[in-house]
Amino acid sequence: MTDFDLVVIGGGTGNSVAAAAAEAGEEVALVEPGPLGGTCLNRGCNPSKMLIQRANVAETVRMAGRFGIDASIDRIDFEGFVDEIESTLSGIAEDMAARYRETDGLALYRERATFVDERTLAVGDEEISGDRVVVAVGSRPVVPPIDGLDDVDFLTSDDALYLDERPESLVILGGGYIAAELGYFFEAMGTDVRIVQSHETLLPHEDPEVAAAFTDIAAERHEVYTGYRGSAVAPTSDGSEGVVVTATADDGDDVDVPGERLLLAVGRRPNSDTLALDAAGIETDDRGFVETNDYLETTAENVWAMGDVAGNFLFKHSGDYEARHAIDNVVRGKRRPVDFTAVPHAVFTDPQIGGVGATQAELEAEDRDYVVGKAAYADTAMGRAKKLEEGFAKVLAAPDGRILGCHVIGHEASTLVHEAVLAMRSGDGRVEDVADAIHAHPTLNKVMEAAFRDVPTAAGDVRS
Ligand SMILES: Cc1cc2nc3c(=O)[nH]c(=O)nc-3n(C[C@H](O)[C@H](O)[C@H](O)COP(=O)(O)OP(=O)(O)OC[C@H]3O[C@@H](n4cnc5c(N)ncnc54)[C@H](O)[C@@H]3O)c2cc1C
Repeated sequence: MTDFDLVVIGGGTGNSVAAAAAEAGEEVALVEPGPLGGTCLNRGCNPSKMLIQRANVAETVRMAGRFGIDASIDRIDFEGFVDEIESTLSGIAEDMAARYRETDGLALYRERATFVDERTLAVGDEEISGDRVVVAVGSRPVVPPIDGLDDVDFLTSDDALYLDERPESLVILGGGYIAAELGYFFEAMGTDVRIVQSHETLLPHEDPEVAAAFTDIAAERHEVYTGYRGSAVAPTSDGSEGVVVTATADDGDDVDVPGERLLLAVGRRPNSDTLALDAAGIETDDRGFVETNDYLETTAENVWAMGDVAGNFLFKHSGDYEARHAIDNVVRGKRRPVDFTAVPHAVFTDPQIGGVGATQAELEAEDRDYVVGKAAYADTAMGRAKKLEEGFAKVLAAPDGRILGCHVIGHEASTLVHEAVLAMRSGDGRVEDVADAIHAHPTLNKVMEAAFRDVPTAAGDVRS
């Protein structure tokens, strides 16, 4: 048995905690069977955004005519750019592994870990122990129990990001951000995309107006079956390569949705089941996410959990925020609580979506008083210059002027929403913090200024 000061399980977001501990002079084990950098670098944010940038370029060429410029796409080198993305990102992961192999005090185990007891782990044929343990094993795509799924080839986001060939058609089960982003990418590459989504809109966790606007835009691009769930899957009956999904509505209506490939994008589940957590007395909630307190401590002494497996948010930026707290609490001996006020999210489609805080549906469900401000991109100078006919920013505030939420759909919404994030994280988070800031003309940010200025004042007045 080899003893360490700290064992970090999972080399995604967790790798920064291991590196910080080694830097602080501790003896650290980092256990990661896959490529370092985890989901975000290898199977998530990075490859998906590199693909989406190709989609944006293709769409820009297609839209050039609206600006009086003739342009057309001669060829899309799908295999070539997928290879380039793969080699760029695997190179970064390999460089990270090489760097860690050279790092004093850091032992890298390329195996899966399982708990033997509270702070002892089986790693391959070895056992290791840590005075402290950080669990950062992430999540993986859900594979739902659908009739016939065992008899067909299907993709999850893990595979769909690295296809050798562009499919002619793709059926996507699910309507969250991964379905929306990959649907946008493949359609822009020329694939016929068909989306089957059990909720009444795509992106059902967005503000209802944003979700409805996005669903309308997506329905112009793809075949979209909202209110239908995939109830069965079968190979195509004519012997051609492909699948047919039976999509069933609540009233029993059935529709067959064929496609060359099938992508499952119905959510992600924590990897906590890979760890034998019972042996350590680490408790999970009913969905398998590891229970943590404000200091990211689990129910086992000197064991912390962070990132997707802790289930606070399933984002890289929230994982990084938790990693900074883990470094303070686990390595530097502090007690710094996490504060999840104003965690933003973004969807990198065209148009983009950026959101933070409560949605109107959540405020309604909680029976809270609120006022609304809204502004359209089309009413701003930059919106007109860029011909942004769709898209808006929407602000939800308490009647006393405290910002409760902000939701943007439109060009660069992922960037614009950070005006609201900063206001909500600093000081009192009031509407005036954005409404009274002088915004440079004619930036896209003027749509944010206009939306915040549209929020009625505490006295019910319109802002001058
Ligand atoms: C297609 C896609 C697009 C995304 N886009 C975005 C985005 O734009 N923005 C954003 O913020 N987030 C995005 N995400 C989410 C983001 O990637 C994750 O929230 C983040 O990577 C989670 O980090 P983590 O460290 O918790 O887990 P991971 O990065 O998954 O790391 C966990 C690691 O633990 C390892 N592991 C698992 N079990 C064991 C075990 N028993 N022993 C040892 N190691 C183990 C795994 O191999 C893995 O490398 C996206 C995800 C996907 C799938």
